[in-house]
Parts: sequence; C-alpha cells; structure tokens
Amino acid sequence: MRHLAHDLLAPVPGTARQINSFHFGPQAAQKKAYIQASLHADELPGMLVAWHLKQRLAELEAAGQLLGEITLVPVANPIGQEQVVMDMPLGRYDLESRENFNRAFINVSQQVGDEVEALLNDDAAHNLRVIRASMKRALDAQVPTTQLRSQRLTLQRLACQADVVLDLHCDFEAVAHLYTTPEAWERVEPLARYIGADASLLASDSGGQSFDECFSLFWLQLQQRFGERFPISQGAIAVTVEHRGVLDVSHEQAAADCQAIINYLTHFGVIAGDAPALPALRQPATPLAGVEPVTTPVGGLLVFNVTPGQIMATGDLIAEVIDPISDSVTPIYCSTAGLLYARSMRRMATAGMAIAHVAGAQAYRSGYLLSP
Ligand SMILES: [Zn+2]
Repeated sequence: MRHLAHDLLAPVPGTARQINSFHFGPQAAQKKAYIQASLHADELPGMLVAWHLKQRLAELEAAGQLLGEITLVPVANPIGQEQVVMDMPLGRYDLESRENFNRAFINVSQQVGDEVEALLNDDAAHNLRVIRASMKRALDAQVPTTQLRSQRLTLQRLACQADVVLDLHCDFEAVAHLYTTPEAWERVEPLARYIGADASLLASDSGGQSFDECFSLFWLQLQQRFGERFPISQGAIAVTVEHRGVLDVSHEQAAADCQAIINYLTHFGVIAGDAPALPALRQPATPLAGVEPVTTPVGGLLVFNVTPGQIMATGDLIAEVIDPISDSVTPIYCSTAGLLYARSMRRMATAGMAIAHVAGAQAYRSGYLLSP
C-alpha cells in the first residue's frame, strides 16, 4: 500500500488541509478503480466501508490478488469534516461559498476533444490512451483559486484514469440505492445486485456536474462528438452509491458492503479470482427523471406513515403535517407509484420541503434532477 498526501490550497496561511489517498496493487496495471467516501462530509456509512476496504485490500495486495490498481480516499472532504457548528455537523454545503460539495466538478471534454481530434484513429484502445492522457494534462493544468476548488480538483485528478469510479454517499433515512447513467447500467448492474440496491436511478446528465457525472459525461460527450468517425469506448463507469441513511454506521453493514464492492471489483477483473454468483436484482433500474420528490405545501410537525423500502401506490399516505396551534392536520400523499427509497430526517417540516423520494418507473421531470 502506498500512502500519498495531497495539499489543498490553504484559505489563509497556517491552515492547510490534505487529501490522503491509499493505493493498492500494481501501479502500471491496465485496469484501475477509484473509490472515495464521504464527499458529503456527514455521510459516514461509506467512510466505514472504506476503512473495511483498506484492511481487505492490504490483505489482497499481500496475497498477490490485485490485478489492477485500486485508489482509496476514505476522507474525501476534510473541509466539510470540520464544519461542525453548535454541535451539528454541516457536511453537504461549503459554509464559505454555500456550494454543494458534490457539484461543479470541472468538465474538460471540449478542451480534450479539441486537443485529441487530430490524433484519433480506428483503434479504440489507442483513442482511450490518447484521451486519458489529454484529460490528465487538462486537469493538471487547472489552477484552483479557492480551497473548495482545490479539493474538487484533487479528487478529480486522483480518479481521472480509473475505469470504475465509486463515490460512497448515503441519504438521510434510506434503503441502499445508487445513481449512474443508462449508458453504464449494464456494467453497473452487478454492483446493484451485490450491494442489494433497492433502487438504481439512471440519468445521463442530471445537471449538477456531480463527481460521478464529471467522468460519465466526459466520455459520453466525446462519444457524441466523435462516435460516428472514431471508436470511443466508455472510458469510465461512475457510480454514486448511497449506503442507506446517515445513522446506518455499523461494522456488520459496512463489512457486508465492503464484501459487495470486493465482489464487484472481482467481477470487473481488478481483483483475481471468481466473483460469487450474482444475487437477484432487488428492483429494476428506473429513470432519475421518474423520481417524485414528495413535498409538503405547509410547515409543521412531520409524522411519517411509511418507512424507506415500502412500495407505494399512487395516492398512498406518506405523512401528516400537524400545526399544533391551529390543530390542522395536512395529509401528504404521493402521486407516483414506486419504491419509497428515502425520507427526511427532519421532523419539523417547512413549507415546500421534500419529505421523501419515490422511485417511479416513468420519466416525467426534466432539467435539473438533483436535490439542491
Ligand atoms: Zn451525498
């Protein structure tokens, strides 16, 4: 195992933070995987999964079982880890800029496309090498001007050569689910099976330039630009894995998720051996544009009628919102049928707030598809 520390731009002198990366397996290997945890800093189940992975990958490396290089970043957001205000961790948004930590990763596909256009030919493997090298140069040439941008760029540089990128998150109260693209789904489906995902939400471009999409969109855009003239493979498949809810930090669950990821990397050919038989897919993949964010039109005390993992029919009661002053009780129903995969942790709802998410089978939304 190699341990590297990457300095972030310090906002003021004397306060530098670092991203720590751990590298397992042969550096010159053709196949590469990248795994990071807790980009939203208070989403910690994935960090425990990463810690379990660290032990297992060291054992596999010592046993000569790693066929590819696996990079692990267990603490992907040191800025956010320190954002504890009045005993509350606030790890989703950067307090200085108010930006979501998992948005606005750089898109270098236009620049890379311009650079490689004259170098592409009929050999897909050649094109893959040329594009990856150009992507690395483009990211290396970026000069971040804030600590947040420096953090994003450091993560993007560490992951940009990987064939598979796993970004480990969690929701508030949720069952296991994941986000990826329709183009990558066939290759991601084994991960959904091993991890027991109850929902797999697919979108090519959800509009936020999140970490997974800064890789999947990059390759998709190059395919769209050059696909009719040159063979361009899907250079990276990228997945955001949601390891249930924020309180679901347990050794039992983390060890199981760690094993699921090892099984997937074995299936993918980064780890030697035969991957275990694929379990059944718990639910078919559905479009991210089919997700209903169930919202409340009024504020008040939120009392749920359902828990994550339940299948909803159109018009099912999700919760009641109670105004203890007027005694009005507002029932909140879903209008989409499907699996309720996540609900809010807050119990005082504010008017307009999304209180739960239901994965519907039919796409009906367009434009920006993510939470703020
Ligand atoms: Zn997250």
